[in-house]
This record gives sequence, structure tokens and C-alpha cells, in this order.
Amino acid sequence: MDIAYNPEYEAFRVEVQRFLEENKSKAPAGHRGRGRPTAEEQAWQQLLIKHGYAARTIPKEYGGYGAEPDILKSHIIAEEFAIAGVKPGHNGDDRLVPVVLEIGTEEQKKALIGPTIRGEMMWCQGYSEPGSGSDLASLSTKGVLEGDQWVINGQKIWTSGAQHADMCFCLVRTEPDAPKHQGISYLIFPMDTPGIEVRPLVTMTGEAIFNETFFTDVRIPADGIIGKRGEGWFVANATLKHERGSLGDPNQTERRFRLLVDLMKNEKVDGTPLIEIPSYRDRLLRLQARVFSMKYNGMRILTAYAKDEEPGLPRWIVKLQGCELNHQLSALAIDAMGELGVLYEDSPYLRDEGMWQQTYMLDLGLIIGGGTAQIQKNMIGERALGLPKEPKYTQN
Ligand SMILES: Cc1cc2nc3c(=O)[nH]c(=O)nc-3n(C[C@H](O)[C@H](O)[C@H](O)COP(=O)(O)OP(=O)(O)OC[C@H]3O[C@@H](n4cnc5c(N)ncnc54)[C@H](O)[C@@H]3O)c2cc1C
Repeated sequence: MDIAYNPEYEAFRVEVQRFLEENKSKAPAGHRGRGRPTAEEQAWQQLLIKHGYAARTIPKEYGGYGAEPDILKSHIIAEEFAIAGVKPGHNGDDRLVPVVLEIGTEEQKKALIGPTIRGEMMWCQGYSEPGSGSDLASLSTKGVLEGDQWVINGQKIWTSGAQHADMCFCLVRTEPDAPKHQGISYLIFPMDTPGIEVRPLVTMTGEAIFNETFFTDVRIPADGIIGKRGEGWFVANATLKHERGSLGDPNQTERRFRLLVDLMKNEKVDGTPLIEIPSYRDRLLRLQARVFSMKYNGMRILTAYAKDEEPGLPRWIVKLQGCELNHQLSALAIDAMGELGVLYEDSPYLRDEGMWQQTYMLDLGLIIGGGTAQIQKNMIGERALGLPKEPKYTQN
């Protein structure tokens, strides 16, 4: 691992810091839930694209900034935004945009990427079904090609943000006779297409972040497909790779750790700050060690990419490590707040606008979404460490 930056990168860091000093006040405050972006959030995103701090490497002709890929610069941007406590920009939808860039047609790139990165076109992911979550390839929502249209019938579940989305990227079984991984296509369509019904599901955060989504004779144009017919499984795996990466950002974890340290300096028991009480301090230090190990694991990945190498094991552990650690940081904050930790919503006594309670509950979900912790462990064992595959259950 090499953790030194050369002068060119240090100069770039100063440039990012200057931008943040000058523009920090325009950054929108943390936004609860996953509704549509506000006008303020869209304006912030536009400013970031203009300066190359969002959609940085997306070509200009598709609405991005058009910089050459440079992983160290991207890392410096993420690091400085986290240090400044400023909401970072995004690449539109981390699950979809890289896939359209990699696999989409020229028309799809032109039509979809610009509005998505500007936050004008919102997407939802139609993968999971009531009987197909971890074993996603068993999905049964059907797509039949009739003339120049796909006709879709079936049901998805846990579709995050479907009630706000303009578009859906959806896995549909289009070749019922092919082996299960080869019979799936990756379809895209507007959410206001007749025959789509979205029923919100309220979670323990009190918000409806995800939904049941029903499809009854939904007709979409035949070219509403990314990649080739029957190859949706491979397209889906590309999106999941991006989703897992974005769910374990070490900079955001470090930022949360710093906020926790501040909280424990401010909260007191009989006049003693919690950070000075050995049992709490001990828990904090154990977590700090893990936050650092996550940070340095991130640097191992970065070093590998900078040398054009595949990072291997360090990349496989990111989602599991990040989601569990984030949840444990929020759990310590809840304990540190004592009776204030159980307050919720708009209580005047909330600390940090209630973000600890929100993240404590939401992060439990993120340990499951995008592939559960158990499935991550299977993948680490089998794909990264080369252990034997788990035995398949067969019915006699
Ligand atoms: C917050 C959140 C947001 C989500 N957003 C979306 C979304 O936008 N779109 C979408 O399509 N889906 C979404 N999901 C669904 C998510 O992808 C699934 O919940 C997840 O893949 C697990 O599937 P399941 O819920 O059917 O559980 P199951 O697959 O039924 O698993 C149940 C339990 O069994 C364990 N298990 C299953 N198989 C194995 C195995 N082989 N080895 C060891 N243990 C195993 C699991 O780890 C889990 O603990 C979201 C979920 C959450 C929590």
C-alpha cells in the first residue's frame, strides 16, 4: 500500500478545499428519506458537475464533466467532502448509470444519462420478488415479446423509491425454457406505464422507503432493454457490483465516527463527558480501530486500481464491513444519548436532528439490501478466498 500523494495531487486537494470553503454554504442539509431531490439539491448537483466534483468522468456529450478517469483525484474529492461534512455529489444512480455507459446503446446513453445525473430522472430497481431475494435468479415476473412490445406480468417487492421514480430497471424472465440464469432480460420503462401499481410499505423508520410493485399486462417498446435478450443476469451483476461499492464508502464512515466523537464529548453523565467514562471510551476505541481498518482497506483498493490491478479480497469485504460498522457507530450514539436516544421525529430534544436514530434503523436494512450479510460472507468465502462452494440443498 502506498499512502503518499505526489505534488500534483496535493495541489488538486488544495483546489477542492478552496471550492468547499467558497461554496459550502450552498450545500443542502442532510435530506431525510428518499423522495425526489429538492430544487436546492438539484442546483447543488449542477454546480458540482460544472466544477467536476460530480459525474466527473462521465463524457461531456452525455451531460457529465468529461474528465479522464483518475482514481486518486476521485478519492481526494470524496475525502475532502467528507472532512468538510458536505453532501457529496453523485453520478445520478450508482446502480444504473455505469451500466448504461458500459452496455447501453448510443440512443440510451444520450436519452438517459444527462437527466439522471442532474437528478431530473429518478429510477427504481425492480429485482426482488416475494419468492426471490438472495436467490434472485429464480425470479418469475414474465416478459413476452408481442410484435414490437414486451408485455410484463408479475410482482416485485422492496422496490425502494418506486413511488417517486420516473423509470424502472427491472429483471424479467423472457426465456422460460432456458436455464434460470440465462432466461432473464434487463428491461427499462417509465413508471407511469398503464398496468403498474405501486403500494408503499412503511418500515420501522416510520417512512415508506420501499414498495410492492405489481405489473398487469404492462406494455413497453421492444427496445426498452439494456444488453441482449436473455443476458439480463450479467447486466444485473454489473449493477450489483456498483451498488455494493457505493454502500461501503470509508470516508462517510469516518465522518460518522467523527460526529460520534463530538457527541460523546458533549453528552455528560453527572457532569462527566461520556468520552471520559471507561466503558463508553472502550467501545469507542474498538470502533475506531475498525474505522481505521476500513479506511486502510479502502487505500489498498485504491492502490490496486491505481496500478491497474484487481484488488481481490479487499474489494469483496467492503459492503459487509461498511454496513455493519455504520450500524454499530449509530448504536453507540444511541446508547450514549441515554433517554434522548429513544426520541424520534420532531422532538425539540433531538441531537443532530435525529440522524442517529434514523441511521440506526435504516442501516439495519442496508445490511440486508444489495445482498445480505450472510450472502456477502458466502461470496467472500467462495469467490475471494477460494473455499469450496456451499452444498446445494436437493430434495429426495
Ligand atoms: C433497505 C432495503 C432496500 C431494498 N431495496 C431494494 C430495491 O430497491 N430493489 C430490489 O429489487 N430489492 C430491494 N431490497 C431487497 C433486498 O435485495 C433483499 O431483501 C435481499 O436480497 C434478501 O432477500 P430476501 O429479503 O428475499 O431474503 P431471503 O433471500 O429470503 O433471505 C432470508 C434470510 O436467509 C439468509 N439466506 C438466504 N440464502 C442464504 C444462503 N445461501 N446462505 C446463507 N444464508 C442465506 C439471508 O441472509 C437472510 O438472512 C431492499 C432491501 C432492503 C432491506
